[in-house]
Amino acid sequence: MVHAPERPPEGAPRVRINLYSDTQTKPTPAMLDAMMRAEVGDEQHGDDPTVHALCDRMAALMGKEAAVFMPSGTMCNVASTLVHCRPGEEIIAHETAHILTSEGGAHAALGSVQILPLKGPRGMYTPDSLRGALRGKSRHTPTQRLVEVEQTANTGGGAVWAKSTLDEIAEIAHGAGLNTHMDGARLMNACVAAGIAPAEMAAGYDSVWLDFTKGLGAPLGAVLCGSRDFIDEAWRWKQRLGGAMRQAGICAAGCLYALDHNIDRLAEDHANAKTLARGLAQMEGVEVQDPDTNLVFFTIPGTGVAAADLVKRLRMEGVALSLLGGRLRACTHLDVTAPMIEDALTTIRGALAKG
Ligand SMILES: *Cc1c(COP(=O)(O)O)cnc(C)c1O
Repeated sequence: MVHAPERPPEGAPRVRINLYSDTQTKPTPAMLDAMMRAEVGDEQHGDDPTVHALCDRMAALMGKEAAVFMPSGTMCNVASTLVHCRPGEEIIAHETAHILTSEGGAHAALGSVQILPLKGPRGMYTPDSLRGALRGKSRHTPTQRLVEVEQTANTGGGAVWAKSTLDEIAEIAHGAGLNTHMDGARLMNACVAAGIAPAEMAAGYDSVWLDFTKGLGAPLGAVLCGSRDFIDEAWRWKQRLGGAMRQAGICAAGCLYALDHNIDRLAEDHANAKTLARGLAQMEGVEVQDPDTNLVFFTIPGTGVAAADLVKRLRMEGVALSLLGGRLRACTHLDVTAPMIEDALTTIRGALAKG
């Protein structure tokens, strides 16, 4: 089986500390209560008041004219590409960007676009490398249409792009006649870490979205923001892709709850990630990337234990981690407390000591 997700191994204990991903949070009773009480209507008919409330609030938060509710972040990225680009055109993005590595080739399969991958440490490229990637216009070259950034850069270790860099990149892109797109799956983590408002962070970007299932605790939903015309076209693709929903206000209410209750507390996740990174760095043979936000990437080259074996051993102890391209990733989120971090460190130390 290659395509369907694997089920948990037979006999594996319940996961008691889930560092696998900030997507695995469970809605709290208070969030569920808000969802149960949501006023709803037919979303694809324009009749769901809770979805409208969420979209209005998100457009204001991001400093854009309009917003559309989507079932997932991937659909926000794909719909954005389909609005921005025509077949044969090119997107410039970091080589580790989610659109390039983790969306099943959707941008090629559905948009017939190619992605020009830029290099750079921690999931980020420089304004100079963007300048260097701009092609002269000729019938030989693909037409470049879109410049993409990921804030925070996921496989870059949850790295936060400096606002000044984001502004410079947007200026270069717009100067060359290209549009700009911000994959803001974890934009709020960046905003909380940097103390910068989302509208400011996304000011130079024609489209930007936020995922409510990444550390914000909602079970479903992402919101894409942009100009009125852009969102109008994005709606066309939402319909085509099967993302137009019905009583989606039940989900939008979870997202509104997350905006009210789960943003400021992201600072706790960042503090827990720092504690975890510090503890890991003290273990012999472990190499850790210092986290900006809630993602801790590390390798264990000097421990004599293979990364995949450590994942299995920890899972049997009820601690879940992920393995991404040979690196281990531990992710903090609202279901992970400070005592759990201490417990996880003890468990990891024990699993490595077995050699
Ligand atoms: C998770 C993620 C996505 C996709 O979001 P889904 O809601 O899982 O579809 C896109 N970009 C980045 C950077 C992500 O981390």
